[in-house]
Amino acid sequence: MVFGAGNADADLMFVGEAPGASEDEQGLPFVGRAGKLLETLLKEIGLERADVFIANVLKCRPPGNRDPMPVEIENCHEYLYRQVELIQPRVICSLGNFSTKLLRDDPTGITRLHGRPEELTLGKRTVRLYPIFHPAAALYTPRMLETLREDFSRLPELLAMPEPAQDGLEVPPVETPPGPSADASDVGRSGSTSGGSVEDGGSPKAAAEGAVDQLDLF
Ligand code: URA
Repeated sequence: MVFGAGNADADLMFVGEAPGASEDEQGLPFVGRAGKLLETLLKEIGLERADVFIANVLKCRPPGNRDPMPVEIENCHEYLYRQVELIQPRVICSLGNFSTKLLRDDPTGITRLHGRPEELTLGKRTVRLYPIFHPAAALYTPRMLETLREDFSRLPELLAMPEPAQDGLEVPPVETPPGPSADASDVGRSGSTSGGSVEDGGSPKAAAEGAVDQLDLF
């Protein structure tokens, strides 16, 4: 299981497709080749992985890295919406087709939509959705790397914009069991801007990254 990882107070959240082999082994999203590229692109705009929150549409690796099936997306989507409610990002970057189509609830593909921010209400949270190509696409199609870089370069400008008006209800507080260390397990907003790091479980295992990556990236 790979739920997601990163800064619980992040203004910027990325939503990919599904864990691959490396992610499955480490229990963390985007730790394979596509993840390295994502980190490079973040660095180029002055951000680090620790500044953002990264999640996927699916929380489990599809066998053989096949495309997510509709029933799997259906089973996982509530987790993603709840993550959005808890993290409260200002900008969500959907990476590739699956997350873009799910979050927009529309079949329009990423080739038409990439680089075009739009306001979107997900559950109780209104965010700026910014669809971009999946980094894995740029691994296979070098020309796409430039497009991805260009789209990435607009992220600081989007993050600097005022937060979209929130018409939704407040997120109910996460119930924590009584005890002296209850704070440490609270993934909701703490009011601090520095934020803590939330990483899901999964025991690290040493194994090679799977050769096959996700398809349907365009
Ligand atoms: N691709 C994804 O969409 N998600 C990951 O976590 C890794 C690769």
